[in-house]
Amino acid sequence: MIRKGKERFVCDARLSQRLAAVQEKQKNAGQRKALFSLRTYYDLDAVTGLSGFDRRQVCVPKVCPKECLLRSSCRYHQYLKEARSAEIFVQICNHNYLLADAAHRLQEMRPLLNDYRALVIDEAHKLPDAARQMYGQSLSAEDFSELCTLLEKEKYILAAQRLKEKFTALMGAMYRGELLEEAQRTAFVLTADREAALRDCLSLLRQTQKQLAPHLPRWITYRLGTTEQALNLFYTCDMRYILYIQYSRDGSPSLCAASREMPEQLRRALWLKGIPAILTSGTLMAGGSFDRTRQLMGLSANKRLDDFIAVSPFNYRENCLLYIPDGLPRTQMGSEKEAKCLAEQICRLVEATHGHTLVLFTSYSLMGAVYNQVKDRLSFPLMEVWRHSQEVIHQFKQAQNAVLFAAGSCWEGVDFPGDMVSSLIIVRLPFPVPDPLSEAEREQYPTLQDYIRAVIIPDMQVKLRQGFGRAIRTETDTCVVSILDHRAAPEKRYHRAVLETLPPLRITRKIEDVEAFIRAKKSPDYFMP
Ligand code: SF4
Repeated sequence: MIRKGKERFVCDARLSQRLAAVQEKQKNAGQRKALFSLRTYYDLDAVTGLSGFDRRQVCVPKVCPKECLLRSSCRYHQYLKEARSAEIFVQICNHNYLLADAAHRLQEMRPLLNDYRALVIDEAHKLPDAARQMYGQSLSAEDFSELCTLLEKEKYILAAQRLKEKFTALMGAMYRGELLEEAQRTAFVLTADREAALRDCLSLLRQTQKQLAPHLPRWITYRLGTTEQALNLFYTCDMRYILYIQYSRDGSPSLCAASREMPEQLRRALWLKGIPAILTSGTLMAGGSFDRTRQLMGLSANKRLDDFIAVSPFNYRENCLLYIPDGLPRTQMGSEKEAKCLAEQICRLVEATHGHTLVLFTSYSLMGAVYNQVKDRLSFPLMEVWRHSQEVIHQFKQAQNAVLFAAGSCWEGVDFPGDMVSSLIIVRLPFPVPDPLSEAEREQYPTLQDYIRAVIIPDMQVKLRQGFGRAIRTETDTCVVSILDHRAAPEKRYHRAVLETLPPLRITRKIEDVEAFIRAKKSPDYFMP
């Protein structure tokens, strides 16, 4: 039985209200069709083309009104009844749902999952991030605007208007007024104007709750309360949290609070009861050890922990060649010289491997700069993927011999089996970017060197391993993997860390070996235009 959050299911009461509301209105045909198909499907993930707004309007509310007449017959409650039956032997859920269930158990609330005797956590490397989200808070302009829309829909137009003004002033106090090359996290500082804006929002939120609570649906009152609590963390500069502002590339801010009690919270939530658990992932190990994973998972002090490394079925020594060019210059990061040097190397490699190339960047700004350098020089189709655009990825797959520039989630979220990626180029070693979260972690280590050894290098190795995983996806795939970072060269500081990360494979520093490898491994079709 698949278990997931309420927001992924249809509330029959809200659906009928929404259907009535759009009945006479103009609406995008695809979105209308998707909305009406919810009369048949109650799992929102089963429907494509639904607008984000409709999704939010028809999903099951956080708290169902007591007076709802459909409670005994609605599809969501039928599903819950079935899911909670003793007949269910295996429950499947995502990390967030598992953590939410654990939080319910800790607070002695009704658990979300049926009691379980064993846990298998797949993609376990993502669990600490999910826990950070779960035990943290985040508020964006969309959250504020949604709250105001909810009040408007309940016909409290004036209250919504007044809150909107205060929220706009608050966001204005956080706004940087500039486009950014990359999304950024910066530490939250309580300046005088932010303090005043927070004070105004808090006082209005409290007043609104007091006045409207008896008249509003409980779940909207709950939203007002959680918004107030989250803002109060910033107003009081709550030391239990790392407070920061997350800026997206268009400069819009979100207020974020990450708990300082991680990973202890994860330990209390999942491991303290001693329920047997298997954690699996291709990237739990860094540099031949699981130490960093143990630490992130809150398992460092656990004595009853066994490690197991499953040997890869892939013959990397035969099917993969690691190329670290000779004489890579040391260039200033972000400089034009760096972009030019990388463009030079990439053009040579693309010719040597006849396209079929995925280039992974550690930043979108560097990707854009190098793209501009190479775009008129390649004889193969060149594509850039921004924010994991499925359309560009699809075009790349269709083209077969193209060159794809990618960054961000493409380091682990894309799958290109066969010849379409026969050359994987990693332009820089993927060291984590410093931010308020890493600064807080750094304070826990006596010296910078200790921190680099225990955190920075293992985190880089995990990301490098994820990127490397894009190269060989099946037992018959063959691929050249190039690392264009001078720090990875044999005589340089991080060469050992790189070799510890990758499986045993042949290494070359000559571009001629790359050409020879591709000629030897690929069939004539590969070289067809
Ligand atoms: S009980 Fe809850 S989910 Fe079911 S129809 Fe009523 S409000 Fe919606």
